[in-house]
Amino acid sequence: MILLTGGAGYIGSHMLCELLEANHDVIILDNLSNSSVEAVKRVESLTNKHCTFIEGDIRDRQLLDDIFSQHSIDSVLHFAGLKAVGESAEKPLMYFENNITGSLVLLEAMKAANVKKIVFSSSATVYGDPEQLPITEDCPTSMPTNPYGYTKLAVEQMMMQLVQSDPAWSVAALRYFNPVGAHSSGMIGEDPQGVPNNLLPYIAQVSVGRRDKLSVYGNDYDTHDGTGVRDYIHVVDLAKGHLRALDYIADKTGYFVWNLGTGNGFSVLDMVKAFENASGKKIPYQVVDRREGDIAACFADPKKAAVELGWTTQKNIDDMMEDTWRWQSQNPQGYGN
Ligand code: NAD
Ligand code: UDP
Repeated sequence: MILLTGGAGYIGSHMLCELLEANHDVIILDNLSNSSVEAVKRVESLTNKHCTFIEGDIRDRQLLDDIFSQHSIDSVLHFAGLKAVGESAEKPLMYFENNITGSLVLLEAMKAANVKKIVFSSSATVYGDPEQLPITEDCPTSMPTNPYGYTKLAVEQMMMQLVQSDPAWSVAALRYFNPVGAHSSGMIGEDPQGVPNNLLPYIAQVSVGRRDKLSVYGNDYDTHDGTGVRDYIHVVDLAKGHLRALDYIADKTGYFVWNLGTGNGFSVLDMVKAFENASGKKIPYQVVDRREGDIAACFADPKKAAVELGWTTQKNIDDMMEDTWRWQSQNPQGYGN
């Protein structure tokens, strides 16, 4: 059985779908601070399979002890965490508490229960402003420019030292590039609370009239059209990468890091154009100042995951846009609809 923390969230719900389709038994622990249980229900009806859902917090040690003692858990997929970069700059302590303390409590409970396999949702943010492109896993990490990014680096380092102290652990840190898209059914997708921070959810909300126009943060970067370039990865490809990582660590111990990206970079204006093509909607935009802390370009070298995990992305930019449009147009208010 797999413990999936944060399984009601955007990526977690797509992970749940892949896990149930692969016939895994899953128990979700989520405090619903940024998600809806509706996502879990929809995955159950999509897959026609059932999981155990527990509403609770990863910082609740007693609850974790109970979960580990009542269920025969082999490994943990750890998605639970707060993820808004701007909010983390305003409330750094809340981010340290939730993401770092939360992960620490989880690791302590795992150790006590002798469950020593964990796959962690890390981020390309740990590379900071990259020294080289594409980014390989041996590029140095650097001090992230915001507290959210720092929590990812801190948890990675904590787990690395844990493996050094006790070689029985198997830890996989998956460094995501920019997850986008939705399940092809249109039943689950990203449902940000308030004003979206990320590019594609913002574009999607413009397309259904929830926002007037997109602000493009700067067009004077050293990129092909001056706007920021990122490596957007379909959330279903991303989830499948976790299945491979889980398989890989099943019979190994140690600390492993993989980039999960496509290796392709698209600019903000490329994304606007691709979304317009998929949706038939015009996305009005205006160019504004650069956003503080942003970098010009960031994309992965995904070779290590291809060679070691046998994983490559299957979905292209049009799939990402079509699936986002299907989700957003069928659920203009997200799960609140
Ligand atoms: P999300 O907010 O949709 O999902 C996170 C889930 O964790 C939510 O359901 C939330 O309710 C839950 N949660 C938060 N704190 C919790 C706690 N203390 N106890 C129990 N549950 C808690 O975010 P997502 O986009 O699905 O991201 C999943 C993971 O991937 C996060 O760790 C995030 O930092 C990481 N990540 C996301 C991105 C991205 O762009 N979406 C990029 C890199 C890494
Ligand atoms: N971006 C933008 N307008 C927005 C949101 C994002 O121009 O409303 C740009 C941002 O400057 C970056 C790219 O889109 O170049 C991706 O931003 P996002 O926040 O989605 O991801 P991250 O910056 O964390 O990689």
